[in-house]
Amino acid sequence: MATKRDYYEILGVQKSAGADEIKSAYRKLALKYHPDRNPNDKKAAEEKFKELSEAYAVLSDPQKKAQYDQFGHEGIDSRYTSEDIFRGADFSSVFDDLGLGGINLEDILGGIFGGGGGGMFGGRRGSGGKRRGSDLQFDLEISFNEAASGVSKEFVIPRHEVCQGCKGEGTAPGSSRQTCPKCGGSGQIRSSQGFMVFSRPCDKCGGEGSIISKPCPKCRGSGRTVVDRKITVKIPAGIESGMRLRVAGEGEAGMRGGPRGDLYVLIYVRPHEIFERHGSDILCEVPVSMVDAALGTEVEVPTLKGKVRMKVPAGTQSGRIFRLRAEGMPDVHSGIRGDEHVRVIVETPAAMNESQKRLLREFAKASGEETFPKAASFIRKIKSFFR
Ligand SMILES: [Zn+2]
Ligand SMILES: [Zn+2]
Repeated sequence: MATKRDYYEILGVQKSAGADEIKSAYRKLALKYHPDRNPNDKKAAEEKFKELSEAYAVLSDPQKKAQYDQFGHEGIDSRYTSEDIFRGADFSSVFDDLGLGGINLEDILGGIFGGGGGGMFGGRRGSGGKRRGSDLQFDLEISFNEAASGVSKEFVIPRHEVCQGCKGEGTAPGSSRQTCPKCGGSGQIRSSQGFMVFSRPCDKCGGEGSIISKPCPKCRGSGRTVVDRKITVKIPAGIESGMRLRVAGEGEAGMRGGPRGDLYVLIYVRPHEIFERHGSDILCEVPVSMVDAALGTEVEVPTLKGKVRMKVPAGTQSGRIFRLRAEGMPDVHSGIRGDEHVRVIVETPAAMNESQKRLLREFAKASGEETFPKAASFIRKIKSFFR
């Protein structure tokens, strides 16, 4: 996929720009790049116009804007389909007061979703009323270990299937659809605001162009019924929270022979009790007693694959990190494993009896600067500072 440009950059506004500023920036650029005004370079202008319109659709919607500000394109693309990005965006008021001949936004933007797609303006009629089914999203929670190893998951989603009673036609057996009397079969009602022409789907037939006089009793005319569908999805090792898997053709059934939508599985990885993930690396804290850290020891360290023994050299300070090569998470694309970082936390005695305290005092008496060089040098620095 081509890298998307920053929405603010596209519209040429600052991140701090208010709603009015965003709107006027979009209007200015949209008029400049409107395909009708660029007859010599229509294709490029159209691309530019789409890019502008998408940026405006996101930045003019407070919720989408917040999502974008926090997570960038990833935040938008993981949450909205390209239809959803445009859904709810108010384009008509942008051009309200303009005396510009015949901009039909729908004709330009409708192409974004390919023929027969739609839904953005209430659904365009494709050939024979075919319409692609909507995309579905399912949120799936998996464990940290499942994310590490990859897993196959099965779940059930309620989704629309083609009605078997009418084969998706929506008509009762023996009857057929009739041309809509309101729109004369076009499915669209056109209206103009100034010089702008907008068309919206006909409300009588819902943009279908035809109506059902005798609805199928099984689906009440919708042509689809809701059925629980069992889905199995293979989750690759190394997947991270927030990633989306696309399962092509497992969304809602299309309308009247249209293709199915897609299913998006949004992954949530439960945090681990011991491991903390940082990209492909994992971090784990291991407590070691003050005595063991001073004398040196060997500790048992958990890894994703089991346990390994790790040497802690004498004189190890608290917070020191040891690296276990290639014991981290696999990268979801390359499969290359990161490292495990083991942070040693030196534990000071939490409770001591009298004889233990006596031993430590004796130890302190026998200790010199070389025993605690950091403390000694710190004391020297402070002394010179307050001299
Ligand atoms: Zn039916
Ligand atoms: Zn109609």
